Amino acid sequence: MLLRLLSSASRAIAAKPHPPQTLAAAAVGATSTTRKLAAMAGNREAFRVAVGNTLERRLFYVPSFKIYGGVAGLYDYGPPGCAVKANVLAFWRQHFVLEEGMLEVDCPCVTPEVVLKASGHVEKFTDLMVKDEKTGSCYRADHLLKDFCKEKLENDNTLSPEKVEELNHILAVLDDLSAEQLGAKIKEYGIVAPDTKNLLSDPYPFNLMFQTSIGPSGLSAGYMRPETAQGIFVNFKDLYYYNGNKLPFAAAQIGQAFRNEISPRQGLLRVREFTLAEIEHFVDPEDKSHPKFSDVSDLEFLMFPREDQLTGRSATRLRLGEAVSEGTVNNETLGFFIGRVYLFLTQLGIDKDRLRFRQHLPNEMAHYAADCWDAEIECSYGWIECVGIADRSAYDLRAHSDKSGVPLEAHEKFAEPREVEKLVITPSKKELGLAFKGSQKMVLEALEAMGETEALGMKAALESKGDVEFKVCTLGKDVTIKRNMVSINMEKKKEHQRKFTPSVIEPSFGIGRIIYCLFEHCFYQRTGKTDDEQLNVFRFPPLVAPIKCTVFPLVKVEKFDVVAKKISKALTTAGISHIIDITGTSIGKRYARTDEIGVPLAITVDSTTSVTVRDRDSKDQIRVEVDEVALVVKEVTDGQSTWADIMWRYPAHTALATDEEEASET
Ligand code: AMP
Repeated sequence: MLLRLLSSASRAIAAKPHPPQTLAAAAVGATSTTRKLAAMAGNREAFRVAVGNTLERRLFYVPSFKIYGGVAGLYDYGPPGCAVKANVLAFWRQHFVLEEGMLEVDCPCVTPEVVLKASGHVEKFTDLMVKDEKTGSCYRADHLLKDFCKEKLENDNTLSPEKVEELNHILAVLDDLSAEQLGAKIKEYGIVAPDTKNLLSDPYPFNLMFQTSIGPSGLSAGYMRPETAQGIFVNFKDLYYYNGNKLPFAAAQIGQAFRNEISPRQGLLRVREFTLAEIEHFVDPEDKSHPKFSDVSDLEFLMFPREDQLTGRSATRLRLGEAVSEGTVNNETLGFFIGRVYLFLTQLGIDKDRLRFRQHLPNEMAHYAADCWDAEIECSYGWIECVGIADRSAYDLRAHSDKSGVPLEAHEKFAEPREVEKLVITPSKKELGLAFKGSQKMVLEALEAMGETEALGMKAALESKGDVEFKVCTLGKDVTIKRNMVSINMEKKKEHQRKFTPSVIEPSFGIGRIIYCLFEHCFYQRTGKTDDEQLNVFRFPPLVAPIKCTVFPLVKVEKFDVVAKKISKALTTAGISHIIDITGTSIGKRYARTDEIGVPLAITVDSTTSVTVRDRDSKDQIRVEVDEVALVVKEVTDGQSTWADIMWRYPAHTALATDEEEASET
């Protein structure tokens, strides 16, 4: 969660442009038969279209309400998309909730206004918008400026080196620009409405929340939650109790979030309803060490500290342990989560060379935050913020404490009572009553609420002069306080515990964005029998593959169908998702179809005693006994063995034609 305090609300698209080669170079498949996408090096668009077409054709996701023309920013996941999403979420639960012993909750999407007023969303969850002065069409101001700078940098060969530097600098600090700065740049560059070329209004804030009302009267205002975090904060007291009144602990929630984006674009990357997976890790602000930090401290990956962004350097590989010990990352707990997020994303199949952790620029970060890093993944749209990892200090719990009147605090019991000097203010009710009658309560409360400096000032004044003028805000006037009305002393006291508002470290995962980037990172094309025949493949790791295995009877005869059904039953018992493909088409075509939705293994039934198992990426095949095959598949798809390990144990099968040859049949 991020409150959009200054400029743009969503800081999804990071600023740095990047050389196009990196995309194609990283997008290629691993085998020598793979047709490299290098030809697409200069053409992200072609790559994106190839991936997008495959995703839509194979029903990974499609625009919602398509038969009615669709609605921008709303998408449906089809069967393979749902399966990938379920696998990503299952791994998220395993990697975070289970491994870290987090407390999972599930709170409503409809949220009463008071909650989002307390959190600041009603006032500040805004993006800066500009309007076409003639047609009223709306655009995100920062997107227009970004598109302008990128277009110039990519296509204008006449730019001077100074101009190139200026435009790159704007891209680097885009998230940092105020409404005024954005407006000034839009004017200076003569940016107009993209569709009509009309002039644009000055940028102004637009609240992204969908408003609703709760109940039939329409009197109780509410919103569809823009994030899941608030549900956790408002439950802090009960969760703390559930955890045995012990810190640190983390709560987690997976659920839908709703944001009325000004200009949804880039498919799943900027939508109006999406799945968030959020963690709120509550920690003592005086001790942000993490007992398991050493588990991740040796990880080394691309980091992009704010200094490097501001001085035009690029992201560099840093060891996490050093980034924390040198203070680049604010504290161990934040560092621990950065490391865990890195492991989560790379184990899902995100290419580690196209993943970086970018630190927020000073203005991009909410004023109360101690430090924030975004996990950004590079895809054909550029570097995309997929996970925000923020140390939000005590802001959220304090805000809800203040608004609800329910203290959201933790306490640390001391082993031995500690002697502390404390300011004790004791108003005399009797004297205040005599002097102020009906206003007594307000004066008393104001005296008790004095801070240490003010109280010691009053004490000094009372001792020297005997009385002092004192402003009581609730009365709206000054009153005269006399020496006999209050005693103010520093007293030594024994304390048995310390009360404090915990800090919150929040990793917030945009599941749709992660999945889209994963699609791009796993997609490649390999040549069929002829050079211009391109076979699409999603190289999903078994962990996220929508289906782990396909079973093909080689030809349609009953004895093979019986074996296929037997194998299917064994696979079901082993908990392996699979399909039986009994279409009469050639085996090569069937391989191509299963590769296209990223199924890692295919079993071909060509005898009643043993079958072949084919690996999607190498296309190597082995022969395995029918009774053994489900366990072999399970071993590989559960990650207990690699395909290479399995290859050693079983005889290779070479009799069948290659899939390219077969794919060209019919
Ligand atoms: P934020 O609260 O803005 O930091 O967002 C948390 C995460 O939600 C981001 O890291 C993104 O991955 C994701 N996200 C934010 N806005 C959108 C959106 N409009 N569509 C899809 N994902 C989003």
